[in-house]
Amino acid sequence: MNMTIPGARVMDVRTSLPRHKSLKYGRRKLTDIRSAALHHSATLSGSPGAFARYHVSTNGGPGIAYHFVIQKDGVIYWCNDPESISYHVGNSNRHALGICLVGDFRTQQPTPEQLDAANRLIEHLQVQIPSMKQVFGHQEYPGYAWKNCPAFPMVKFRSDYSQYLQKAVDKVKTPIQVQVAISMNGSMLSVSGFLQEGVSMLPVRAVANAAGGKVEWIEQTMDVRVNGKDLNEKVISGSAYAPARELAAVLGLQVEWDDPNKIVRLNGV
Ligand SMILES: [Zn+2]
Repeated sequence: MNMTIPGARVMDVRTSLPRHKSLKYGRRKLTDIRSAALHHSATLSGSPGAFARYHVSTNGGPGIAYHFVIQKDGVIYWCNDPESISYHVGNSNRHALGICLVGDFRTQQPTPEQLDAANRLIEHLQVQIPSMKQVFGHQEYPGYAWKNCPAFPMVKFRSDYSQYLQKAVDKVKTPIQVQVAISMNGSMLSVSGFLQEGVSMLPVRAVANAAGGKVEWIEQTMDVRVNGKDLNEKVISGSAYAPARELAAVLGLQVEWDDPNKIVRLNGV
């Protein structure tokens, strides 16, 4: 399975973790996997190696219980083939894939890096394993209501995960933009804007500079102001774009739209 995940660091430790001398986990088909099961390690810190030793030496299992372990720094450790029927949710093991976040979330919080890595990992796995439609906490599996694992609210986790997926979809959906040229008092600027739902969006800084306007970037609210006025800007790859009419208004410029040539003509009054 391809485990290259954009924006995440995956360490394949499947062959280096301690394993039982003779016992082996059973195998399944990827299509047997129906859900990802989230766990916490219930330890303040730890490593896949330490968990593997405990699961083998103390519990007498064939190997580490989890398929993936996510450290506090967001690094994802790949511990078992997804086809391994490892032991982490009892009777549900055959259909569940175990993901453990290091920490004791009865007293700690998962780090933002861990949650981000968990989102990216689950998204990636759901593409590779389409039958894995659900994400549950350990506690949500039959027979485990008593177990405070993963000890963070799964309703919130799933809602954050849906939002994370929606953002990814929005990114992909952003259509190829129609470029618009910009002229200022009859001369063309070297920068261009784009059309968004029929509105010309212009690069704020370049246009404001050309018109002698004052641009401020408000760090706390991530807002751009021109001549002290807020704009409905959109930030793309670090550059702010604002609707031509709005930007022209705060700069005291008149705006004309040359539709056949796709040029926004800005003129000082
Ligand atoms: Zn658990």
